[in-house]
Amino acid sequence: MARRGQQVPMMQPQVIVLKEGTDTSQGVPQLLSNISACLAVCDTIRTTLGPRGMDKLIVDSQKRVTISNDGATIMKLLEVVQPAARTLVDIARAQDAEVGDGTTSVVLLAGELLKEVKEYVDEGVSPQVIIKGFRKAADLAINRVRELAVSVDRADKTEFRALLEKCAATTMNSKLIGSQKAFFTQMVVDAVMRLDQEELDEDMIGIKKIPGGAMQDSLLVDGVAFKKAFSYAGFEQQPKAFDAPRIACLNVELELKAEKDNAEVRVDRVAEYQAVVDAEWKIIFDKLDRIVDAGANVVLSRLPIGDLATQYFADRNIFCAGRVSKDDLDRVCEATGCSVQSTTAGLTSAHLGACERFEERQIGGQRFNFFRGCPEAKTCTIVLRGGAEQFIDEVERSLHDSIMVVRRAVKNQAVVAGGGAIEMELSRYLRDTARQIEGKQQLILIAVAKALEVIPRQLCENAGFDTTDFITQLRARHAQDPDRFRWHGIDIDDETVADMFAKFVWEPALVKINAISSAVEAASLILSVDETVSSQQAQD
Ligand code: ADP
Repeated sequence: MARRGQQVPMMQPQVIVLKEGTDTSQGVPQLLSNISACLAVCDTIRTTLGPRGMDKLIVDSQKRVTISNDGATIMKLLEVVQPAARTLVDIARAQDAEVGDGTTSVVLLAGELLKEVKEYVDEGVSPQVIIKGFRKAADLAINRVRELAVSVDRADKTEFRALLEKCAATTMNSKLIGSQKAFFTQMVVDAVMRLDQEELDEDMIGIKKIPGGAMQDSLLVDGVAFKKAFSYAGFEQQPKAFDAPRIACLNVELELKAEKDNAEVRVDRVAEYQAVVDAEWKIIFDKLDRIVDAGANVVLSRLPIGDLATQYFADRNIFCAGRVSKDDLDRVCEATGCSVQSTTAGLTSAHLGACERFEERQIGGQRFNFFRGCPEAKTCTIVLRGGAEQFIDEVERSLHDSIMVVRRAVKNQAVVAGGGAIEMELSRYLRDTARQIEGKQQLILIAVAKALEVIPRQLCENAGFDTTDFITQLRARHAQDPDRFRWHGIDIDDETVADMFAKFVWEPALVKINAISSAVEAASLILSVDETVSSQQAQD
């Protein structure tokens, strides 16, 4: 039996039998150690916040290099093993999945909440009291965000679009693509507007990366585009463009056994072999004939399309591509109004998709298939160009963030001011409310109010401003006239304190609501764990 706990009660000796090698620690020291682990994780990402935030270059265990400024990506790659600190990784991931932005902020906020109450924990205040205070503060703050959120007017289409562009641009400020903001803003808004406005399914925006070229060579295709995975002989003779094509999307094998790797047919006599070959040729030709009879002139399949079939299609002026990924094939179906057929039996023209134009084109060193002018086009594709692979990967992540924010703005219609303005207003509001409450809850509310200031403070620090000076000014303004200075925050571009709403540094209210509630839940979770029990297996 092994036991390592600093807080074994003296008056009521307990005997707990644990497996050999089990390691435990508990109580306040455990809580403090968990808080310290979380703070260490926050410290690694705090410098990435905001437009002047730094990037991190992360080398993983397989020596892969990633350069990123995105909280969720960094947290994922850090390979955090401390169990409590892993909670922060989880909230960053959840924030990314649910709202696609605010990932750094949510982790910083959770860490700061813990930092602010650390001394209370040390002094022996019950974590349950703190958690209760946290939840009350979160409720107050979230209601306040809802109250303050400015709803977006959609009646005027031009104004609505301008607003979306501003929203998209805000997320790009702090990223590598910030220098090409105007270009990518248009692209992101166009892409989101192409989606089904009810469902707004972001998976219907494909992003394809082709290293090389300049960032501005990137393009938005109003339909589907995907890389050709594989070409057989005979392919060169196929047509490469059609107006009004009829498209067959299949999950059917169009390859002779002999064309496959490791194909093996065991026979005793030559005649038997011939019979097998004849039968196989008949099967494949039957399939091919049925596809042609249905009227297809573009044939796509999840499965390989072999030499024989490729040549057969070429001879009949039909384009074909095999080994198309499931995602790409699904998007072609969605866009052209057909579904993937798993057999050619009974295939008719009713099973085929249609669009205005199909084309195969060379981009950089790769061949791409384009399906444009799709009737059901609730889908589109961004083809990204530019520089090294890591660079393009980061651009893709930034676009994803931006797409999520615009998508949210279309969906939610409510925004608040960024640059730490909303956090400062919430901080003021909580402080004012705390005055009307007595006891420990007052202290916790004030702790949350202080923690919220981490966002403007870190924005200042990362931009190299005089943090004390800026935060004091901000605090004073918000306290002096909450209505007038409601949206005042850190104006990074003009290096001053200003109305961030007027500067169009807007953020969806939902991003903030989600960040506050996730941060509070994560901090509460960490405070409710006062013992870690790790078995020997876990330690090995
Ligand atoms: P997160 O992953 O939390 O979204 P970012 O690094 O994207 O982190 O930084 C977002 C923060 O930067 C938000 O608080 C946002 O309001 C702020 N921000 C973005 N652009 C500006 C700007 N031009 N001036 C001031 N603050 C900005």
